[in-house]
Amino acid sequence: MHPDCERILLTEEQITRRVKEVAAQLDKLYENRKPVVVCILKGSVVFFVDLIRNMQTPCELDFMAVSSYGAGTTSTGELIIKKDLAADIRGRDVLIVEDIIDSGNTLYHLKKMLNKREPASVNIVTLLDKPARRQMPLEPEYTCFEIEDEFVIGYGLDYAENYRNLPYVGILKRSVYEK
Ligand code: 5GP
Ligand code: MG
Repeated sequence: MHPDCERILLTEEQITRRVKEVAAQLDKLYENRKPVVVCILKGSVVFFVDLIRNMQTPCELDFMAVSSYGAGTTSTGELIIKKDLAADIRGRDVLIVEDIIDSGNTLYHLKKMLNKREPASVNIVTLLDKPARRQMPLEPEYTCFEIEDEFVIGYGLDYAENYRNLPYVGILKRSVYEK
């Protein structure tokens, strides 16, 4: 285990098993359709790759980078698009792949923005959800794991751009971010 890690929350094996289950559910949902699967950079990249590798359904891949401001202080946090989709999603089925939902601010605004482009559908699949932290009315259609209010790292998730390549999800030691 990484020395900055308090404990492992989800092992590689647990994640692999759950990602396969969720991929199978998504295959059913998108049977005979061809969704645009959207990776929200950078935190979702590891989950995204494992998820699509386990999906049989034909799909297109796209990438988006966003950041939200105002979370924690207001319920009207704005969304900054740092990188937009390459695909025209009008009339398409869109599957947003997210690493973790916290206040719900990011995805609430992103979903609203994408809906203006008149897609056929927008669904959200998230690796992790912290429902206790929610400030905006946002429910993902698919959640791999609900977790307590702890700061987690690994499997794509970072603290100051570190730890993204850890193969598990761990709780970061408080001493790392409180020093
Ligand atoms: P929201 O808009 O839902 O509050 O924010 C979600 C974003 O906050 C995530 O995409 C992620 O970047 C960040 N975040 C929230 N909780 C955690 C956490 O426990 N660990 C890490 N690494 N990022 C988190
Ligand atoms: Mg993120």
